[in-house]
Order: sequence, then structure tokens, then C-alpha cells
Amino acid sequence: MRFPLALTLQIAKHITRNRLQGNARFAMVLQLEPLHTCNLTCTGCGRIREYSTSLKDLVPLEQCLAAAAECDAPMVSICGGEPLIYPKIEELVAGLREQGRIIYICTNGVFMRKKMREYLASAYGPALEPQVVQLLSEGLITDKEAAQIRNADPAARSKVTIKPTKWMYWNVHVDGLEYTHDLIVEREGVFKECVLAIRMAKILGYQVATNTTVYKETDPAELEQMFQFLSALHVDGHTISPGYDYDAAKKDMVKRLGRDPKDFFLTRDLVREKFKDIQRWGEQFTLFGTPVYLEFLAGKRELPCSAWAIPTYNVRGWKAPCYVMTEGHYGSYQEVLTKVQWERYGTKDGVALNPKCENCMMHSGYEPSGALSTSLRDTWVNMRFNFGSRPKPYPASPELTRSAYNGVTVGKGHLAEAKAAVNRELAGAKSAYQRHDEPDHAHETGASNGSCGNGSSPERDALLAKVKERGTVEAKAD
Ligand code: SF4
Repeated sequence: MRFPLALTLQIAKHITRNRLQGNARFAMVLQLEPLHTCNLTCTGCGRIREYSTSLKDLVPLEQCLAAAAECDAPMVSICGGEPLIYPKIEELVAGLREQGRIIYICTNGVFMRKKMREYLASAYGPALEPQVVQLLSEGLITDKEAAQIRNADPAARSKVTIKPTKWMYWNVHVDGLEYTHDLIVEREGVFKECVLAIRMAKILGYQVATNTTVYKETDPAELEQMFQFLSALHVDGHTISPGYDYDAAKKDMVKRLGRDPKDFFLTRDLVREKFKDIQRWGEQFTLFGTPVYLEFLAGKRELPCSAWAIPTYNVRGWKAPCYVMTEGHYGSYQEVLTKVQWERYGTKDGVALNPKCENCMMHSGYEPSGALSTSLRDTWVNMRFNFGSRPKPYPASPELTRSAYNGVTVGKGHLAEAKAAVNRELAGAKSAYQRHDEPDHAHETGASNGSCGNGSSPERDALLAKVKERGTVEAKAD
């Protein structure tokens, strides 16, 4: 099976109960955003821009748990912002488990190893020593960290931690191989850290999924290589979705990066072009979700939007109508169900009912339509897909690993490239956001070897400003 039986049965029970109760609309997955603060500034992220004035706000723990109880979704995706920054993340995970929910922690991966070391310190005993030895031998923890785990003090031993369980997945954000991923998250070294965290999680018995957003510049061949690499790491499953052109992300792109959003976000036709191989990938790799949604992405059918099935709760309340578009915030999920004019959103026979829905094919709107379809054919196709055998892990090989580390590891870091430009070692550089179709000057100058891995937003912005300024001066001189 692609998804563990107990979890599948819990979801099936939830759908059956709601149908028997005559509920036309009900929650399947709660997108819970306990905060919007993040340690990264990913290029396509709408959250850190839309909620830029409330980045310091937190949803209190009790309110998070009450939101989950109110909408009663069997699955909760804890996202944000970066959820591992939330001070009560461990208590939140424990509380949601007490409610019997399936949990996804959507993380950029940077703090995962820290959280897993805390788990090790709290649970350490002879039974965990073999894993500690393996982590040490594979360079996933240091000698000092191993000593801290083995000799944990009472405070560390009594700390609530995030433990491995079949009811929880780390859901790691990976948008491509090293160069692309680090470019999109705007920080070098993040891809490498994600891979270390995934390897550590698998050794410790956690379930790991990955989530990937596809943009206009995403190369489908690279995506396939990425799935091969992640599969070889024994990742348990993948979600993939086209990006949505958030208003806030578009504005940021113009203002901060000087880029045209049309170069970055996808139209419907382009989504279908990018996803034309998605059904084959669904056979080869453990894609989570339904084959019906994959058919939709591949352009083989239309679906209505069911955004009410994936509600979002955050510092301002229940965001509506959907995870990506905001027309208002409500006080309860019930209000969202009854007050939003659902007939104004999504598409009908492929025609947008709202201009903002025109290019949206996001899983947060359309995936539940695939899962909740009542057609006999769709039910059969979904069941066959999920109950069918799980694709085997892709064979690991040195070539596969080498192809994955195609960025800062081999001297192709985008920030180092900008630094080189500022230092005048890189004649003719225009932008720190050069993509793969542009020359690899940093490699030639030897300017990048991973030493420019800071990537903090102010540093990057300062570099960009200087590069731009220099370009203007040089253009005037010409
Ligand atoms: S089509 Fe997309 S943007 Fe429109 S309501 Fe549905 S999920 Fe939101």
C-alpha cells in the first residue's frame, strides 16, 4: 500500500461518517499555521509577504487544538511560516495525536536534526545506542552531540519531544535538486541540510514525505531526477503541486527582485505541459494523493474546486476561501462553510468562476475533489492506486548522488556568484538570480565553494543592490 492501512481506514471512516450525516461540505485536511515567522524567504512564498505585519504573532496552543477539534479534519498539516520555530510545536504535535489526528509537519528541514536530537536525548537508552552509533558513523551528528544525547540532563530527559510514529510525517519542502532548491529558498546549503535531515529521520524510524511546488522555470526532467534521488533515500511519499501566483508574492517579486511574475508562475496550459508525465511518475514513485488529481494535472479531465475540504487556520482566524487566496478571515469553520459563496470560486468545465482562480490547479483546491469523487470509476481508480503495491525505492548510486548535488557543493552557488560580481571578479554579471541557462562564472572564478552559505535576506538584498548599482554605473560609462 502507498499509505499505511490504519491511516487510510481512518480517512475512509471520516468520509463515510460525513456522508451518512448528509454533510455536503466537510474538512479533510486542516492547514494549521501557528505562526508565519520563517527562517527563510522563499521566492514564491505568499505567507511571509501577505502576513508581513503579523510575523511576530503566534496562535496560542489551546487555540490551535480547538481549531483542529472544531473542523474535525482527520489530517492536520502544521505549516506556517516554519512550524519548528513555534515554541510549543512538541506540545501541539502531542495534543493533535491525543485527538487521534494524522499529522504532517511541513518544514524547510533546517531545524529537523535539532528536533530529532532532542528526541534522542529524551528517550536515550541502550535500545537507541545502535542508532546513535550509526548517526555518528554517517556524520549526521557530531561527537559532541552524541555525548549530549548520551549524558542528557534531567531537563532534556523530561522535555516533550517529537517522537517517531506511524501517525506523523515530516513533510520536507524540496523544490528541485541542489542548485534550484537553494535558489528558490534563497539560501545556499538548505538542500544539503534537508538531505541530512531526511537520512537521520529514516535511521530513527520517522516517516518522511516531501512536498514540491512546480514553477514556470521548473524543469520536468530535473523533477524526475529529484524523485529518483528522494526515492533512493527511502522517502515514504511525495506531494507535488503547481505554484499559485499569490498577489503578495507577485508584488515582492517586482519590488525586491525586479522580476516579472509572468516569468515565474504558471498558467493552466503550462501546468498541463509540465505535468504531462505525472501519471508515469505516479507509477514509478510513491506520490501521495489520488490518481484522479494526477489526471487533472495532466490535462486529461476537469475537476471542481473543493477548497472547503482543506481549510486554513492562522493568527487571523479561518482564512477563506482557500489556502492560497484570501478574501477574509472568519471566527469559525462553520462560518466559513456557510458564509463563503462557494459557487463564486474554482472552475466549471475548465472556465474560471473567479479571475483569481484562473490559473490555479493547486492540490489545496482540487486534490480533495479527486478523493471525494462519488463516481464509481473514480472510486475504483483511487482504490486500485492506493491499495496497489508500493513502488520500489529507486536504486541509490554515486551518479545519482552526484547529479543531485549540482549547486553550491560543486561551486555553483548563486549567492557566491553575486559576491563574486560585487568583488569585480565576475565581469558582466547582471543578477544574483541567474538561472541554469546562464554561464557558470562562479565556478570559473573559484568564488564559490560553499563558504557563502549565510544567505540571510539582508545580506542577499545588499548584494543585489550593489550588483544592480554597479550594473547601472557600468551601463552609464558605456
Ligand atoms: S480554484 Fe484555487 S484559488 Fe480558486 S478557490 Fe479553489 S483553491 Fe482557491
